[in-house]
Amino acid sequence: MSQIAENIKEVLSKLPNGVSLVAVSKFHPIESLKEAYSAGQRIFGESRAQELVVKQPQMPDDVEWHFIGHLQTNKIKSVLPIASLIHSVDSENLLRAINAEAAKIGKVANVLLELHVAKEESKFGFTADACKRLFDDGLLSQLPNVKICGVMGMATNTDDEDEIRKEFKLIQLIFEALKSNYFSDKPYFREVSMGMSDYYLIAIEEGATMVRVGSHIFGPRQY
Ligand SMILES: *Cc1c(COP(=O)(O)O)cnc(C)c1O
Repeated sequence: MSQIAENIKEVLSKLPNGVSLVAVSKFHPIESLKEAYSAGQRIFGESRAQELVVKQPQMPDDVEWHFIGHLQTNKIKSVLPIASLIHSVDSENLLRAINAEAAKIGKVANVLLELHVAKEESKFGFTADACKRLFDDGLLSQLPNVKICGVMGMATNTDDEDEIRKEFKLIQLIFEALKSNYFSDKPYFREVSMGMSDYYLIAIEEGATMVRVGSHIFGPRQY
């Protein structure tokens, strides 16, 4: 068995039922993705529009591409037809722009709201308050071509496991609050996406339904 296949097998053996694995393949060569595919992996996460567009035609049609990086509005057009889920919707402006483009191509775009829970200023995303404001303003009914399937979070870049766990708990808490306040009649609002390689086990413990794992599967990225 290839190293990549072994790594996938190991990660999968730790995932409870109902938790899916997003193999984060950004900066990895197409051969590595093909190895993962041969091992049965179907969901791949990419973070750059250009890379996604180049890789997609080189992989079989039944691959599910997830977009997990910061998405600039001028890249929506190229990402939307390919991505089955955009994890990283980090602003109202982006949400509206995705809705508009999805309407244009007759699609309903599946998205997650990226929550801001990390300590870094630079990380994108919504705070709990910002989410509340969005939905209290009746945003949902204005976006018929967007399906908000849940939330996504990036933890602070730190070795402090307690801090990571705290942030994952917060992601889960915001998810539950949004669910009961705004999505109680929407069963598709069910996904909690957390990363990354070093912390996927904590993510599972804290309620992730999707774990984003890159280097633990593919090795160090080849920039
Ligand atoms: C790169 C990336 C990951 C995976 O990181 P690893 O440490 O390689 O597992 C997860 N989530 C996001 C949003 C990423 O950009």
